[in-house]
Amino acid sequence: MREAGPLDILIRALAGLPGLGPRSARRIALHLLTSREKTLHPLIAALQETERSVRVCPLCGNLDTTEPCRICRSDNRNRAVLCVVANVADLWAVERTGAYKGLYHCLGGVLSALDGMTPDMLRIMPLLERVREGGIEEVILALSATVDGQATAHYLTDRLQAEGPVRITRLAHGVPVGGELDYLDDGTIATALKSRASL
Ligand SMILES: [Zn+2]
Repeated sequence: MREAGPLDILIRALAGLPGLGPRSARRIALHLLTSREKTLHPLIAALQETERSVRVCPLCGNLDTTEPCRICRSDNRNRAVLCVVANVADLWAVERTGAYKGLYHCLGGVLSALDGMTPDMLRIMPLLERVREGGIEEVILALSATVDGQATAHYLTDRLQAEGPVRITRLAHGVPVGGELDYLDDGTIATALKSRASL
């Protein structure tokens, strides 16, 4: 077997990205190499700049070029409301609706027996600490309507209720059972936010 050259390594790296397989990875690699000025060079620059400047927000887990992130630093956000999401993609999905003006907390995933995700692997302790510090009146559990998402919501409800008097709500109408939050349209997420219900 011949040694993998740079092109093989590039194709393998592309094929490992979400939504791509070997066939699309080969097409992308060829496209990049046949239009270097237009696509390859800007992509290299964007990747290097992203790697250099984008950081994880120590407060909410969002990705941004400032620490804390722009949402956490903003004076125009309601600091009494915290929206708990599984990951940054879900945070951005809620943020795109423009229907929410509070703060966020990214868990970094959801509890899953199948995937071996246990509470200590998620950012649950930092969430409880934020609530314990005071000033937060409502925690919105904006988790996917999947078995794992809802199991995580139940677990968080128990842990949050033990912290003291905080209103705990979850997304209601609009999120289909078994639906992934990141795949929903903005209107559905906005409706679900407006019709959130107490647990
Ligand atoms: Zn933040």
